[in-house]
Amino acid sequence: MVSRNSDKLFDKVLIANRGEIALRIQRACRELGIKTVVVHSEADRDAKYVALADESVCIGPPPSAQSYLNIPAIIAAAEVTDSQAIHPGYGFLSENADFAEKVERSGFVFIGPRPETIRLMGDKVSAKVAMTKASVPCVPGSEGALPDDPKEIVRIARSVGYPVIVKAAGGGGGRGMRVVHTEAALLPAVALTRAEAQAAFGNSTLYMERFLGNPRHIEIQVLADEFKNVICLFERDCSMQRRHQKIIEEAPAPDVNARALTRITERAADACRKIGYRGAGTFEFLYQDDEFFFIEMNTRVQVEHPVTEMITGIDIVQEQIRIAAGQKLRFRQRDVLRRGHAIECRINAEDPWTFVPSPGRITAWHAPGGPGIRVDSHVYQNYFVPPNYDSMIGKVIAYGETREQAMARMRVALSEMVVGGIRTNIPLHQELLLDEKFLRGGTSIHYLEERLAKRKQAA
Ligand code: ADP
Repeated sequence: MVSRNSDKLFDKVLIANRGEIALRIQRACRELGIKTVVVHSEADRDAKYVALADESVCIGPPPSAQSYLNIPAIIAAAEVTDSQAIHPGYGFLSENADFAEKVERSGFVFIGPRPETIRLMGDKVSAKVAMTKASVPCVPGSEGALPDDPKEIVRIARSVGYPVIVKAAGGGGGRGMRVVHTEAALLPAVALTRAEAQAAFGNSTLYMERFLGNPRHIEIQVLADEFKNVICLFERDCSMQRRHQKIIEEAPAPDVNARALTRITERAADACRKIGYRGAGTFEFLYQDDEFFFIEMNTRVQVEHPVTEMITGIDIVQEQIRIAAGQKLRFRQRDVLRRGHAIECRINAEDPWTFVPSPGRITAWHAPGGPGIRVDSHVYQNYFVPPNYDSMIGKVIAYGETREQAMARMRVALSEMVVGGIRTNIPLHQELLLDEKFLRGGTSIHYLEERLAKRKQAA
């Protein structure tokens, strides 16, 4: 059994992920003097970050189900390499409580919250119950899971008020939800969402919320140690979304009611203490008319963590590792300062207007640079983007003293960037970075979809 030693971190960490986040975690470990083991599928065998790791283990064929989601293969890889801890990154097994439990039972440290916490927050129905108990306001909706009785469902929807959104308790990645505008459409929508939820998440439990017409997505990053010390690393605005998936994120969130933000931040920190949260985590909220409503908690590092790192100077992945090693947080809330503004564009291998994935060989690659620019990407010239995984190939993050400067730097960075051989969504980002309303700040989660619909009409 590996002991959680308070002054020594780990000798060797296994990274149970791929792509940019595998490289990101590897960088954090190397800086801390920790050896790394990267597990990979056959599709990722030749990736440079795999070669850069101290050790690598092939855990299966390209499909994720047989490799990155293959729990026995990952634990076996940790055993044969004498790893002490496992970092799950985001996606894949990062929010799988059974995985976290098996990791710990096999004698390794899981770099993340306790399995019970992952289970509690991973079920969005139990998460909302826990948050309500901790006085964190939630989106008005069904109390707990939807029953089977159709009459009851109709009654609940009436009391919530149309439009409603039917959501899967086990959903994630923007999938497993459906907006319903009329009572006539309700029961068929519930049946369809239930079937989809069962197929996609192995859990047919549904719940219902009021569908907010004009909200922004604002989230709060927290770090918590074993000793109930909690700090908040402020908020991020992730309202620029397509199909409930984020594409641009920024910190701080422009033009938010300061008092409401302070209050919700305190509630989030308090909720962490109440549920015994450990590690890095994110409370996601919808924000409308100066009010915050909890939607879910992510019990892992997020894609958009760099914007927070840029404004606070805190390396979130390194802090995750320190916390997992049993160390106390090195900062108190009053030590955490933020400065300037950061924005992140997710670069996807996809057609910028049809969003059809565009895997294949990258024939030319030039990453931007200069003051305030950070590029988190595992790709390079001649890299082959496999068709098997998420289409994100990297992230460009721009920092500025002001939001305007961050935006200007991002525009310059994207104009310098060259990705040949495949299509990317860079042209979409370039359009958005000139969009008047976005530049003013505070656009809602529906803004991008509405804008894309108008664009299509005009074409
Ligand atoms: P996931 O786990 O799949 O990311 P979330 O519950 O976090 O699901 O919701 C993802 C996105 O869906 C939100 O950022 C928001 O854009 C939209 N959404 C979720 N709930 C509501 C709601 N009640 N009203 C309006 N939009 C919502």
